[in-house]
Amino acid sequence: MHVTKIKDEIPFQSPVQPTQLTLDSEIQFDCHPGISCFNACCKNIDITLTPYDILRLRKHRGVTSQEFVARFTTPFEMDHHGMPGLKLLTKPGTSECVFLEESGCGVYGDRPAACRYYALGSMGMRKKDGSVVEDLYFLVKEAHCRGHEEPKTLTVRQYRQEQGVERYDEMNREWRDIIIKKRSSGPTTGTPSERSFQLFDMCSYDLDSFREFIQSDGFQSLFQVEAQSFQQIKTDDEALLRFAMAFLKQVLFGEKNIPMKPDGREKRIAERRALYEERRRKAVEDYKSSQEAQWRAEEG
Ligand code: SF4
Ligand code: SF4
Repeated sequence: MHVTKIKDEIPFQSPVQPTQLTLDSEIQFDCHPGISCFNACCKNIDITLTPYDILRLRKHRGVTSQEFVARFTTPFEMDHHGMPGLKLLTKPGTSECVFLEESGCGVYGDRPAACRYYALGSMGMRKKDGSVVEDLYFLVKEAHCRGHEEPKTLTVRQYRQEQGVERYDEMNREWRDIIIKKRSSGPTTGTPSERSFQLFDMCSYDLDSFREFIQSDGFQSLFQVEAQSFQQIKTDDEALLRFAMAFLKQVLFGEKNIPMKPDGREKRIAERRALYEERRRKAVEDYKSSQEAQWRAEEG
């Protein structure tokens, strides 16, 4: 079996095992309700949520994306520029997952990708000067987890199938690539604008607002989306998420994923110019009125 050492990439005494695994690597692990440590891993969590996690979880809870984010997540910054991220909320004063119930996971059928993977870890890595992001897997052995002592063996590929992570990886791939590309774009590109973070936030975590956004006059005047696809995007959350990622790549990296109306940009520039001129005219008028009021007050 071909293995690559990743010892230098991980912190000292980390539970992450220093061996990179392939899809065909065999692991010894099992997790089931009868195990002595059942739910121990859900009592000390630090889970970063992906867009597809949120899509599934918010449906499971029957709430809007905004309500889900407000009730079940906590914000954090994913990098030193402040790229917005969300972590799964813990119960007050504990590190215990907000969805943990007496009988186990309260959202099991729609649990996040990180929960499905554990005790496997995965990460995407772009090789230096390479354009393809490679999937890396490794084992995480924590003292509380007795699953490693169970006799069951299976390959990484089988484990991923068993846990249903393939769909999650497929749906999150574009998002992960955006983050890696953003991180590796280097200091020459400068700090991303506030507007780009707002768009990243909406496309990643608030698909309900993104759905409204693509139906707005501003979006419709700029982009040309064929009626049938647009109908599917509006009504199918997974299609909407894919479209949101394509839009984000277009905005952040200039990719030409969504066709633009031939005169859309010019019209938009003209509208903006008219708006600025109107604002300037109003500011001049306000200034004149305030000056006149001041003179009258001084004369009186
Ligand atoms: S979502 Fe479920 S599996 Fe994941 S940490 Fe919470 S309770 Fe555990
Ligand atoms: S075996 Fe590991 S993953 Fe399964 S419940 Fe125990 S601590 Fe959690």
